[in-house]
Parts: sequence; structure tokens; C-alpha cells
Amino acid sequence: MSNFKFSKRSLDNLATCHDDLQRVAHLALKYSSTDFTITEGVRAVERQKEMVRIGASKTMNSYHLDSKDGVIDGKGMALDFYCYYDGKVQVNAPISKFAEVANAFKKAAKELGLMIEWGGDWKSFIDAPHVQLLGKA
Ligand SMILES: [Zn+2]
Repeated sequence: MSNFKFSKRSLDNLATCHDDLQRVAHLALKYSSTDFTITEGVRAVERQKEMVRIGASKTMNSYHLDSKDGVIDGKGMALDFYCYYDGKVQVNAPISKFAEVANAFKKAAKELGLMIEWGGDWKSFIDAPHVQLLGKA
């Protein structure tokens, strides 16, 4: 169990996510051996269009969107995280560091009876910072 605490920025971003995803993230922070920050939760359609345009995302069916099927209460079903170590957010951390955090998310989700998916497990487009909530297990 870690003693990591979310920053205000992380909490503000997390607050835009579905309640179940928030619960997973809070438990994941306890289990993770690497500290991390939540950089994004829900995303407006206009921003998603821009991300697809610049190649940062491949889909207009993103779980981040504020208005899509499956989004409950207008909250995001996805979040992005980055590892935090050596005194700063590490945007270029190796995939192994992202995986440490992702494994904590998976453990937390399992304990809470929820299903999540990590973008680092995707085959066609690896999205290491990305975690999305699929629903109840
Ligand atoms: Zn994402």
C-alpha cells in the first residue's frame, strides 16, 4: 500500500469521470508502486475532433467523450494518467512504468467487481496513458 496522494489537478480531472472509474483510480493509487497523475477525464467532442486530426487519437467513438452511448450522467468513461517520479510528471516514461500503474488499476478494478481496459494492451494503437471503464464484471 502506497501513501501517494492525488494532486488537486488529478482530483479535478478525476471528478469528470464516472463514479466507478473514480473508485478504481483511488484504489489503484494505493496499490501502485509508482505515483501517477490524472491528466484528463471527460473530453468535449470538439477537442476529440482535434485529437483525431493531429493523430493523438484514432476514434470519434472515444470513451472520453461527454456525449456517447454508455456514458452515464454525462461523465467520462476513460481517463489518462502519467507516471510521476524524480520530482516531475514523466510524459516519456517507458512502457514498463505505465504497466506498473496499469497493473494497479487492474487489481483495483477486480477487487471492486469492475471491468477496465488499458490502452497499453491494445494491439493496433498503443495508448499507454489510457484506462477505460467497460462496466461491471
Ligand atoms: Zn485516453
